[in-house]
Amino acid sequence: MNRRVQYLRLYLRRIKLLFMIRKFIYFIAISFIVSCQSGTAPTESGVETLSADVRFEHFKESFIDELWKVYPGWATLSGYHKYDSILVVPNDAFRSQEIDFTNSFLDSLSKFNIAELSESNQTDLRMIDNLLRGNLFYSNEFKEFEKNPSAYNVGNVFAEILQYTKVSLDERMQVLYSRMRNVPQYYEAALSNIKNPTLEHTELAIAQNSGTVDAVFLSMMKDSLKKSGLSEEERKIFTNRLDSSVNAIKSYIDTLKSWVSQKDRQWSSFRVGKDLYEKKFTFEIQSGFTAGQIYQKALDRKREVQQEMLKITKEIFHKYFPHVRVPGELNLEHTKMLIDEISKKHVHRDSFQTAIERQIPELTRFVEEKNLIYLDPEKPLVVRKEPAYMAGVAGASINSPGPYDKDGNTYYNVGSLANYSSEGAESYLREYNHYILQILNIHEAVPGHYAQLVYSNKAVSLVKSLFGNGAMIEGWAVYTERMMLEAGYGNNEPEMWLMYYKWHLRSVCNTILDYSVHVLDMSREDALNLLVNEAFQQKQEAENKWKRVTLTSVQLTSYFTGYTEIYEFREELKKKQGDAFKLKEFHEKFLSYGSAPVKYIKELMLK
Ligand code: ZN
Ligand code: ZN
Repeated sequence: MNRRVQYLRLYLRRIKLLFMIRKFIYFIAISFIVSCQSGTAPTESGVETLSADVRFEHFKESFIDELWKVYPGWATLSGYHKYDSILVVPNDAFRSQEIDFTNSFLDSLSKFNIAELSESNQTDLRMIDNLLRGNLFYSNEFKEFEKNPSAYNVGNVFAEILQYTKVSLDERMQVLYSRMRNVPQYYEAALSNIKNPTLEHTELAIAQNSGTVDAVFLSMMKDSLKKSGLSEEERKIFTNRLDSSVNAIKSYIDTLKSWVSQKDRQWSSFRVGKDLYEKKFTFEIQSGFTAGQIYQKALDRKREVQQEMLKITKEIFHKYFPHVRVPGELNLEHTKMLIDEISKKHVHRDSFQTAIERQIPELTRFVEEKNLIYLDPEKPLVVRKEPAYMAGVAGASINSPGPYDKDGNTYYNVGSLANYSSEGAESYLREYNHYILQILNIHEAVPGHYAQLVYSNKAVSLVKSLFGNGAMIEGWAVYTERMMLEAGYGNNEPEMWLMYYKWHLRSVCNTILDYSVHVLDMSREDALNLLVNEAFQQKQEAENKWKRVTLTSVQLTSYFTGYTEIYEFREELKKKQGDAFKLKEFHEKFLSYGSAPVKYIKELMLK
């Protein structure tokens, strides 16, 4: 616990998204699916054989059962709470168990003839195959467990269990008590695993594990203990174990701090390098392109978008700055001036949520009027203020019930601006100005993430709901932004297009930045220059992005990669089908496969 749990924690944004997705898709019992299919077929000898799909459904069921046994922490974070009391010690024995599990399921998988399976099962098979091969790559080649001290942190799963209110508090305390047993061995194993850490991940590990001690163990756990019905005696025993856990985490932190204070210590580079980067991209993004190809496409797109922005600048600059004299040609600096000026048009801080609420039906109406995609009126989206437990980061996100929590609602959480100073609120509102707010709603809700998830829900597959392809999901949301504007949303106002391009450049430059830093050795200075001067980002935003790229790799490319694959595929199909091409049909068919990688959807649609 490993790469998976760490992986989830590191890519905070992605977690948030995957979490939403997991929480969204309704889980229909496997038995139901099985009963819907052809079942058994008699052969000539009269012996009945199970159809490939029936066998595959059983395979998937046992695969997921075993997966949760090997990765109980991952199960907890996915909303499956059977193994909450087990904390896996990430030692050599665990890693060989992991490899055995992987090889055994790869072997069973190889016995299926993919051509005999339904389309949905074909993509499920390839997704499981990718996950297992990825496992081998992470264990044998990428070896994050040797490089990344922040891969070790027990905090998030403890916090998740504490917040799982379907189980009584006293029961949760029992579970947590059992779970704490392995905390000391967990951190001992961590220290013996780490061989060549990076400074960046070491510092992150210090900060995050300190948060685990203070926020999870010393406050959440102790508060819960007070509220629980445990006896005096039980509380004592619980507190003893809690103290040993805290000591183990603190001693881990102290060791890491002693490394940081060694002046002549040699750290590994956070840069992944070309070979590992390409491979990681293959497993994580599952694109039809290589990372190098996507990088080239992002460079081209950046140039194209900047040219379009310049065109708009020439068109409307003097409307906003009638008294500014420009010697010579207008350039990107003028574009930046224009963006800053147009950003001043925004809603009042008190009406941020109502503005979003009002926009959803407008977007829905536009989508219906233009015949872009069918939206199911039976699945309404509830806009609400971000609940307290999610608070801290103002923003917007979709939160939906996961496969193990099928009765939950789907919410659009809107961050509160209540705790912002007036400057803070102003800066936030300029960022999410009149134009960007609409693009954000397209992306998050209609016809972006929310609409996609409604379709994904209909394509019932536990595999896709648990391991849905992030590039397809993000790519769809990014694709819909452009699709909506091309369909005339915003009346082709130049301001709307300019703001769209600024927003879009963020996805494009995420890809350029990630590849440049990890493969081409880009310096911090050049990175900030790219984000601030070429993508019009605020300095603070650019610095946060730099920090993120030193701690993660590949994930930042998912938005642009998915978008590019969907957009190019659509254009290809348009050319092929000519007048027969219908946008609405394309969208509905595309989404009907669930959250599978775009390359597989494409293959099935072209058949
Ligand atoms: Zn203002
Ligand atoms: Zn998104």
